[in-house]
This record gives sequence, C-alpha cells and structure tokens, in this order.
Amino acid sequence: MRLFYAALALEANTFLPLPTSYQAFVEKIYYPPGKHPEKSGHQTGAIGAARAAAKRHGFELIEGSCYAAQPGGAASRDAYERMRDEILVQLKAALPVDGCLFNLHGAMVAHGYDDCEGDFLEHVRTLVGPDCVIGVELDPHCHLTRKRCGLADIIVLFKEYPHTDFAARGEETVDLVLRAIRHEIKPVKSVFDCRLLASFPTSRQPMRALVDRIMTLEGRDRVLSVSIGHCFPYGDVPECGARVLVITDGAKPHGDRLAEEIGRELIALREQAAPHFYDVDGAIDAALAAPDGPIVIADAADNAGGGAPSDNTTFLHRLIARGVQGAAVAPIWDPIAVRLAFDAGEGARLPFRFGGKTGLTSGSPVDAEVEIIRCVPNAHQMFAGAIVPLGDVASIRMGGVEAVLISTRAQAMGTDLFSNFGIDPKARKILVVKSNQHFYASFSRIAAHVIYAEGDGALPRDVRKLPWSRIQRPIWPLDATTEPRLII
Ligand SMILES: [Zn+2]
Repeated sequence: MRLFYAALALEANTFLPLPTSYQAFVEKIYYPPGKHPEKSGHQTGAIGAARAAAKRHGFELIEGSCYAAQPGGAASRDAYERMRDEILVQLKAALPVDGCLFNLHGAMVAHGYDDCEGDFLEHVRTLVGPDCVIGVELDPHCHLTRKRCGLADIIVLFKEYPHTDFAARGEETVDLVLRAIRHEIKPVKSVFDCRLLASFPTSRQPMRALVDRIMTLEGRDRVLSVSIGHCFPYGDVPECGARVLVITDGAKPHGDRLAEEIGRELIALREQAAPHFYDVDGAIDAALAAPDGPIVIADAADNAGGGAPSDNTTFLHRLIARGVQGAAVAPIWDPIAVRLAFDAGEGARLPFRFGGKTGLTSGSPVDAEVEIIRCVPNAHQMFAGAIVPLGDVASIRMGGVEAVLISTRAQAMGTDLFSNFGIDPKARKILVVKSNQHFYASFSRIAAHVIYAEGDGALPRDVRKLPWSRIQRPIWPLDATTEPRLII
C-alpha cells in the first residue's frame, strides 16, 4: 500500500490590503519532502498520524511539500499555482498510490481562484483516478464547498476552537482513509447549509455542549465522522457560510437527518455563542476594577489569526495615557522597530517609534521613551505542543506598560509569548493579547479572568460592517430571513 501526504494552508481575509505572496509561505511554514519535523503542527495535523500508521501497518508514505502562511489577504495567483503544481509534480512521481492525505486549512482564496482547495483536489483527482481514496483534514474556519465535498472521500474538521485537537483529528482522518482503502467502510457525505456567518468559541457554552454531543455520535449507528464548519467570516466568496458535514458508512438517510438536526441546533444558538465584547476603555476599566490578576484582554479586532496586521496601537495609547501600571501587550508586528531595538541592544533607553504602520486600522504609531528589555533572534511561542515562529523579537518597557514586538506576523497563542522575552505574565495586572480565541488554551491557565474586547483593528466583530459583494445571499446576519437546507 502507498499513501501520499502534503499540506497547503492559507486562511484568506479577502477584505484586507495585505497580499499573501509565495515568500509569506516560505517565511511561515515550508517543509520540502521529508523535511517536516517529527511532530504534527497546527496546519499539518495528519502527518504525525500518517507516519505512525505507516510504521504500524507497513505501508509506504510518500511525503510531499508542506506550505502554510499566516492568515492574510488573498494569495497571488503565482503563489498558489506554484505551490499547487509543486505538490502535483511530487504526486505524479509517486504514482500509483492507494490513498492521499492532505492538510488544507480550507479558506484559501487566490487571485483568480475562489475555492483553491476545490481546484487543488480536482487536479489531484484527475491524476490519481476515481478509486484512490482522498482524505482531507480542514480547519473549522473553512469554506466547505460542494466542489471539495464531491472530490474528497473523507473530510474531517478540527472540532475545537482554540484548535487544540489538530493531531487527534489527523489520526481520525488517517484511520478513515485506511479503512476505506481496505473496503471496510463506504463513506457517504451529508452536508447541511446553515446559511449563517460565524466563528464560535468551543471553550464556552452553548458551543461546548454541542461539540461534546457530536463526539458521542461518532463510532455508532454507522456514523463515521461529524464536523461543524463555522466558516471563515472574513472571506467574501460565494460559498462562505457555516455547514455541518456528517460522514456515514453508507447510511445516507441517517446522515442527512443528523446533519440537519445539528445544523438547526447551531442556528438556534447563534445569538448566544459569542462572548460579550467590551470597547477598549471598558475593557481596561473592567480589568482595573478586578481585585486580582492577571486579567487577560483579547484584542480580537487585531487578530493576525484572522489576517489582521497585529500592529493596532489603540490599547497601547489608552494604557499609556491612563498611566496604567503592570500592563503588557503582545504581539505587535513591526519588523523595522525590532531591527531598531536590536541595533540599540538590551538595556538601552531611547526615544522609540513602533506600531501603527500597515493601514488605517492600525492607528497611529506609539512614540515613547523606551527601555529595551530583551532581543531574541529567531524566537518562537508554543501552541498545543507545536512551535509557532515569531522571527526576531524585542520586548520593550515604557513606564508601566510593556510590549512584545515581533517580525514574523502571528497571533498570541502561548503565555511564553511574554515569558520568553523577560516579562512574567503571572506578575502582570493586565495582559492584552492580539488574538480572538487561540490564546485561550494557554492563557486561561494563568488568568484570573479572560475578557474580550473589540478595538478598532481590521476585523470588526459585526461582519455587517464589511463590504460583502460575492457571498451567496440571503445569509445571517447580513439578512434576517434565510433558507437553511441540506445541500449534499
Ligand atoms: Zn481556525
């Protein structure tokens, strides 16, 4: 038996003026064949399981290239076609194969391509033929298009947000592909289109209970896998929207019923599933009023995980203007300021300008007399055991406020985003993290409270503020009345 593996991941925010080039992939994740580290990463969740299964069952695993970029604007046409074609050449050389395994994220848009994953799988299917089993692991912030559902045999999405289960879902993808190759199962899909735009944290109710429930459905009554695709609510493509995917072992009517039942539950909880969002000063007030600490404030509108630049300065300006003591903000993406900090060196005090560079939603730069705390070349943070590169990193202090400046754009994920750079997060009163939800897994362990804020960054929580033009209507919350339905 022979299986082929590759990864290609971008969450494309089509509203951003921040293009995603080939270089943006190379700087974040590019592992040519055989160069992938031992453990699975967030965007390569199935490789660890595939390697382990190859050893256990004695099949041959041919590893192709793995590419993933930080979420940003649409990819250039050249970037997408270059990566797609590189993987296709590798696959062609590996033929014949019994199965293919891919990590694709699922919200990649390129200039000229609304559905990159659908296009990619179409090319793959043409090469491998109808009998090869194609399995794909996707992020729940994906566009679960009809095209990709028709081309892949197995699709499994992460269930958790934060996505701490990428390796577990990768194991399930590999397991189902192997069983399908051995003709032990006949996977059949049912897809219910909820006609809504959203992204629901699973660390809180009511979403927690729904995710727990779908896990109890799997492995019985011929249900192989249940996935909830939240959608990526900043991707203006026709099929953007939440969809529920149920894969059964040849039990289509049962799958259809379940997909619709779960889809209608998701629709029913859509109003309560998002946490309360404070404005910037409201969040600072709430944190200062708390008797204990640290209070972790998520600056969700400047989340690089949704494609935002992560250089919005509004929280910094307000913390400094209010004379707050014991506050730290991370990460601020500003490679030029990092370079200046490295030039000045640790311990230096100097007038310094940083942040507020990329666009209107970045705000104005901060000018302050700062002390350089730490300068760390090729730094990283951790997320669920995986390394997230940050490039060169400098931490700085101005009065009672500290900031971590990074040169490879990323969202806040681990508390080591502070502790690696000379800032003890447990000893601070306020930690402002640029993230929507991925920070939660790590920061909730040290936080007295976690609160969410909507600043004036690039990602408004109310998606009705965005200039949608290509998405299929009607869809909630852009439209009050919708027509949810089974589409596959
Ligand atoms: Zn996601």
